[in-house]
Amino acid sequence: MILAVFSIIIIIMLKRFLIQIATLFFVATLFGLTLKQFGVSLIYSVPFGIMLQFGIYYAYVTALNAYVELRNKKLENERIKEFSLQGIEVTCPCALKKTEFVPIVLNTNNTYKCNTCQKNISVYIVPETALITETIANITLPTVIPTEEESNGNS
Ligand SMILES: [Zn+2]
Repeated sequence: MILAVFSIIIIIMLKRFLIQIATLFFVATLFGLTLKQFGVSLIYSVPFGIMLQFGIYYAYVTALNAYVELRNKKLENERIKEFSLQGIEVTCPCALKKTEFVPIVLNTNNTYKCNTCQKNISVYIVPETALITETIANITLPTVIPTEEESNGNS
């Protein structure tokens, strides 16, 4: 059973390899026959065709890798930009009390330049804690039964 699966995998791999080799030689032969029209011998043009295909393949793989790397770097930059977009609205301590949105990064000293007074302002982040209280929405109130007088008065 295992041997059968193994041999099938080998056959598939061998088939793929043979198809690739056949394609390589086919294209190289076509290339050689084309060059033959211009008086180039097949002895030179066919090996050159094979080499050329390897060269093109290498260039393609290199370009693809470069593209993927560039795209990954771009995505990483976007992620960083998104992170740095987190900020808070702060009011400048100057007389004009201008409110501005300042990006905040927790592990650095956050400073910004006020657009109105052109002074450098430091932003201090003071974490505060508070106990979260449970809501009383689930408490059921006892039903009020009207007295005899109240029910007589209503009717
Ligand atoms: Zn200011």
